[in-house]
Amino acid sequence: MIRALLLAAALCLPGAAQAQQLANQLFGAHAAPSQQKPMPVGSYAKGCAAGLVELPESGPSWQAMRLSRGRNFGHPEMINFLVNLSRTAQQIGWAGLYIGDISQPRGGPMTSGHASHQIGLDADIWQLPPDRLNLTRRERENISSIPVRSADQKSVTRNWTARHHAVMKAAASDPRVDRIFVAAAVKIEMCKTATRADTPWLQKIRPVAGHDTHFHVRLKCPHGARLCETQTPTVKELSKGGNGCDETLTWWVTDYLNPPKTTTKKPVDPDVPRKRHPRQFTMKDLPKQCQDVLASR
Ligand SMILES: [Zn+2]
Repeated sequence: MIRALLLAAALCLPGAAQAQQLANQLFGAHAAPSQQKPMPVGSYAKGCAAGLVELPESGPSWQAMRLSRGRNFGHPEMINFLVNLSRTAQQIGWAGLYIGDISQPRGGPMTSGHASHQIGLDADIWQLPPDRLNLTRRERENISSIPVRSADQKSVTRNWTARHHAVMKAAASDPRVDRIFVAAAVKIEMCKTATRADTPWLQKIRPVAGHDTHFHVRLKCPHGARLCETQTPTVKELSKGGNGCDETLTWWVTDYLNPPKTTTKKPVDPDVPRKRHPRQFTMKDLPKQCQDVLASR
């Protein structure tokens, strides 16, 4: 009787069964992009991506790192952006760029790490200036980037150079870039020389936790990408039209590190659902078009 029921359950509605499975397992199982027109689907931290392309493992001005993760796939605009930025990095005086995670071949939630990077429009770029661009696969698994932020989180380290500033400025000045996430100390350092002319790109540099060994570039939804969700608030709103070198930035090296003592503790409301990590998403949590992305050739 139980066997018959299980069999019936297995045979009926594979779509429904799939809806229960963890989305990161389903997306993590794909080794190739979908053969569809490029389209970011959903939002940076809840979506997937059709028609991604692979960043070649090595090029004249870049190498993709940690190849075993299979995360060197992005929207064509992202791949184009990264190749261009790596050429600019050479003009600035670096050998090129070491590029970390972009997205899985079909985007989607990942089995480890990032909450975002789901729609092919996020990329991590190492703060380690490349020595050479002929690292073997194995070397790319083993070498690590370098921290440009001190352990106490308050300042940059001696690893930070004017060239780092120039590379990040070039990235943020690209009109395709929506915002760049970096350790607060890095932005504080960049703010020191800021003039009014720097406001448009400097407001795109946003402080976040972590991000001491890489910077994280997020592109805007490409023109005509109707399934792509634009992030709000915008960087202009977040910085009230300024460059973001303000009290919301210094908070990261003051109250964030030493939270002021509060006398009353906020009670936990059991009726408010806890925010789930994307690792817990099932297909039901993602836009329905993500099922087509999974099913496509
Ligand atoms: Zn990232």
